[in-house]
Amino acid sequence: RTVRELVLHRDAYICQKCKRQGRITPATIVHHIIPVRYDSKKALELDNLETICASCHNAEHTERAMSLRAKRMKQTLSRRPDMIRIKRNEEIW
Ligand SMILES: [Zn+2]
Ligand SMILES: [Zn+2]
Repeated sequence: RTVRELVLHRDAYICQKCKRQGRITPATIVHHIIPVRYDSKKALELDNLETICASCHNAEHTERAMSLRAKRMKQTLSRRPDMIRIKRNEEIW
C-alpha cells in the first residue's frame, strides 16, 4: 500500500477542495498542500496530502503560480536558479 492510496481511501476518492465548496467530485490526484520542494520532510505526511480533482489541481497550481509562488520565486530565483527547472505536476506519482 502506498501513501497515495491511503490518502485516496481516507478522502473516499472525493475532491476535498470541491467538497469544501459543497460539491462532490470524484478524484484520483493526491496533492501536496505544502509543496515538497519547500519541505521535503512533508512528502509522505498524510496531513499534507489531500485528494483533488484535475480541474481543482490545475487551479491550485495556477493560483499559486500567480500569487505566493511568483513573489517567493522572484526572491528565491536570484539565489536558486536551479528551481526554474522544477515541473508543475511532479507530485503525481
Ligand atoms: Zn475539485
Ligand atoms: Zn499539486
